[in-house]
Amino acid sequence: MSRLLFQGVPGVTDISAQLHAQSRRSLAPCRVSRRAVHARWGGLLPRSLELVASGDKLHEECGVVAVYGHPHAAREAYLSLYALQHRGQESAGIATADGQRLANIKGMGLVSEIFTDDVLAKLPGRMAIGHTRYSTTGDSALLNAQPIRVDSTKGLIAIAHNGNLVNLGNVRARLERDGAYFQTTSDSEIIVQLIAHSSAGSLVDAIADSLSQVEGAFSIVMMTRDRIFAARDPHGFRPLSMGRMKNPGGPDTVVFASETCAFDLLRAEFVRDILPGELVMVSEDGVTSRQYASGIPQSSCIFEQVYFARPDSRIFGRWVQESRDQMGRQLARESGVPADVVVPVPDSGVTAALGYAEEAGIPFRFGLIRNHYVGRTFIEPEQRVRDFGVRLKLNPVHNLLEGKRVILIDDSIIRGTTSRKIVRMVRGAGATEVHLRISCPPTISPCFYGVDTPSKKELIAANHSIEEIRHFIEADSLAYLSLDGMLQSVRDENNVGYCTACYTGNYPTQWVDVEDILPATVTL
Ligand code: SF4
Repeated sequence: MSRLLFQGVPGVTDISAQLHAQSRRSLAPCRVSRRAVHARWGGLLPRSLELVASGDKLHEECGVVAVYGHPHAAREAYLSLYALQHRGQESAGIATADGQRLANIKGMGLVSEIFTDDVLAKLPGRMAIGHTRYSTTGDSALLNAQPIRVDSTKGLIAIAHNGNLVNLGNVRARLERDGAYFQTTSDSEIIVQLIAHSSAGSLVDAIADSLSQVEGAFSIVMMTRDRIFAARDPHGFRPLSMGRMKNPGGPDTVVFASETCAFDLLRAEFVRDILPGELVMVSEDGVTSRQYASGIPQSSCIFEQVYFARPDSRIFGRWVQESRDQMGRQLARESGVPADVVVPVPDSGVTAALGYAEEAGIPFRFGLIRNHYVGRTFIEPEQRVRDFGVRLKLNPVHNLLEGKRVILIDDSIIRGTTSRKIVRMVRGAGATEVHLRISCPPTISPCFYGVDTPSKKELIAANHSIEEIRHFIEADSLAYLSLDGMLQSVRDENNVGYCTACYTGNYPTQWVDVEDILPATVTL
């Protein structure tokens, strides 16, 4: 059974104070990078962690959900988190409220590992919020898993947060000078402490006041004993949608989720996206809303459309499947090459590859098969086998690749090492040519808005020409989707403004970590 942290659950000891004491000196922001992982383990990663950390993919940070007005709110939150598991697999939590009590249970592991029937039965109430997170392991990670439950001067508050705040240092130091006592080292708690220290008269005013003081990316859900709040940062970096479930003879259940695929599992109807800078409150008086910030240009994360979100979700007013299909088609128009088959790097390259193949009139084939049962931990053989990690996850279908000119479609190249292994794998299966096509522009700058990216020094495209990268990954040709082509692929009547900072280096906020954007030193 997963190790769990219980807060406010009758008959179960709350060990959060003990964990807090153990982790006082550790730094554990919502965004936990490979560098932070290294720091925590003294530079020596356990083997099992090494596999996770060395994956040459970017990691989404979190998924959030909220349920108001359902007799089995915890179970509905559980199902929603289950649908959002792709947004974080390292920890999960659910907090519920029944008008009197506010209970919280969180643990390390997958949603289904943590929330057995017995555990869900300890979470009564008609309201729930939930969170699933990408992070590392250890006690400090368990404490910083979300929701975070704080007993504040404004009463009990639970918060779950997707994103990354960027002006933390100043705000946290100011709050500590004002007497704030932090229970966790998570940046999400800063929002709760700001609420507790706000001089605003009502709770909703205090929340609006607090949100307007923090900068960065946050799609959050919050819960008191009798109300639920949902808000997005003024730039609208991360998605957050509202839905409804009909209850015969009673008021509707209101639900919130990072992605609409969660609504499908609940049979909830999509109502709308929470707007950038909007704070929504749900109480027994119904749904009310206010803009706590306005006039800031929208900069929603375009990488959600490229890679993170599920293709069956509708985010920022647009079906992700449609965006990826268009990216693939545009890629084919921009950088077509004679070939026999189009092969996706599964799973995230599949939709773009379908679009590419249809546009190019070249057969689409599943020439690489992904093992969906690769766990988060495994025992690596004593003797390191070359390219073992990639071979564990992917296997070529020899009869589809042998003697073929192959176009491989993937969604990013971060350090280039994984791409090289995949190109070698396809060639090793008998392909006569391997042409790699990437369904977004080169990643040249790190993200500060909730995506775990390496520093600029480690990004291959920040330091090398496309020809140098092609040579390194041993492909016959390499091409990326252009910036214009990517923006064109997501353009529609909603006129959403997108953040493209990891492709351009133009950040929509003032704050960036200077060390992370220092010139590169990667050698090929
Ligand atoms: S920098 Fe990239 S990953 Fe980060 S929010 Fe902007 S587009 Fe998304």
